[in-house]
Amino acid sequence: MIAFGPVPSRRLGKSLGINNIIPGKQCSYSCIYCQIGNTKVKRLEREEFYEPEIIFREVEEHLGKLDQNHTPDYLSFVPNGEPTLDINLGKEIRWLKAFHIPLAVITNGSLLYRSDVRNDLMYGDLISVKADAATEEIWRKINHPVERLNFRKYQNGVKRFADYFSGKLVTETMLVSGINDTVEHIRELASFLADLQPDIAYIAVPVRPPAVKSVKIPSEEILNRAYQLFTAHGLKTEILTGFEGTNTGFTGNAWDDILNITAVHPLREDSIRRLLRQDKADFNIVESLIEQGLLEAVAYNGERFYLRKYHIL
Ligand code: SF4
Repeated sequence: MIAFGPVPSRRLGKSLGINNIIPGKQCSYSCIYCQIGNTKVKRLEREEFYEPEIIFREVEEHLGKLDQNHTPDYLSFVPNGEPTLDINLGKEIRWLKAFHIPLAVITNGSLLYRSDVRNDLMYGDLISVKADAATEEIWRKINHPVERLNFRKYQNGVKRFADYFSGKLVTETMLVSGINDTVEHIRELASFLADLQPDIAYIAVPVRPPAVKSVKIPSEEILNRAYQLFTAHGLKTEILTGFEGTNTGFTGNAWDDILNITAVHPLREDSIRRLLRQDKADFNIVESLIEQGLLEAVAYNGERFYLRKYHIL
């Protein structure tokens, strides 16, 4: 259950996902908008979740099952949690380069104060760093970081990484209505981001079911204002507000494809129906996964999504 997709991504094109974290969410944050639910126990310690050989073999096997139309544009570490908690990440990135496909890591940036984490990510081709808050107060409100993490230390870590990283650096800012979307805060955030000099600063909104039900998408007026404030700070800015498409990769095994993708990426109903057609399967599989408590249907923003369910003891 390590490699999945590819899933369509505005940032990465066809992105073959790598879930390098063991089942059950492992993260240093518990973001209010997280699409994979609350973090039961937040953590900062790194550990080995899988042997790098296993990750390499699973990616190799998954690539072998894809048809030519689904050759990925990126191999992306987008696990059910924070990928830098994996102590073998640097080694895995280096080994996966053997496939000659650009490698991306989507990180919350909270461990970048550590030199070993910065060194691991130096091997990536594209690193996306989350940046939702410019003040400690808002950071704690939106990202709910592990208690002993310090805001200045986190910001300094991100800055140090940005100063030395020579690949493509992008930032991702999730705007949540009433939490981090005032003009003053967005201006302060834009100033922090401008200092990082990212290739692109993405502004996103919570389009998938969030961990906290009260999370709302900001108005278009606020999004437009955020875009203007970012660009006024010299940031090349893109807004990610839409659905990224239904064309997920398939391996011929609908059961595994659905479980692997929904573990990190809730699937909208039209995406899951398309995946089933491609895998030559029918909707009974979805119903059976729900009956067995492995999948859950959730309504959000007028759409129906399917999420992976875990039974954590
Ligand atoms: S959105 Fe990412 S960083 Fe935030 S809690 Fe979820 S997995 Fe962790």
